[in-house]
Amino acid sequence: MFDDDFGAEMEAIDTARLDADLEHAQLDAAGDALYATCDEMGICLHGVVLVVKEIPVATPRRYRCKFCRKVATQEEFNTYRTASYARLDEAGVL
Ligand SMILES: [Zn+2]
Repeated sequence: MFDDDFGAEMEAIDTARLDADLEHAQLDAAGDALYATCDEMGICLHGVVLVVKEIPVATPRRYRCKFCRKVATQEEFNTYRTASYARLDEAGVL
């Protein structure tokens, strides 16, 4: 799956290298700025979560963000993300 994504991405860059590089740089910069703001505000928008294995019997199941290590249930992550986007919108970040 990752190999396929990577292959497709490399093809896109090969066919329009300058445009793609520029676009990637802009996306990266925008993403970095957004995540930096999220860090400052204590917000997790990563959404890349893993099951917390050390709490195997926890109900509902607990997840931990792979990047900032926030721990919550899947539902809490979803609710949290909606609230976080509202906060970022208010702050004029989005
Ligand atoms: Zn996070």
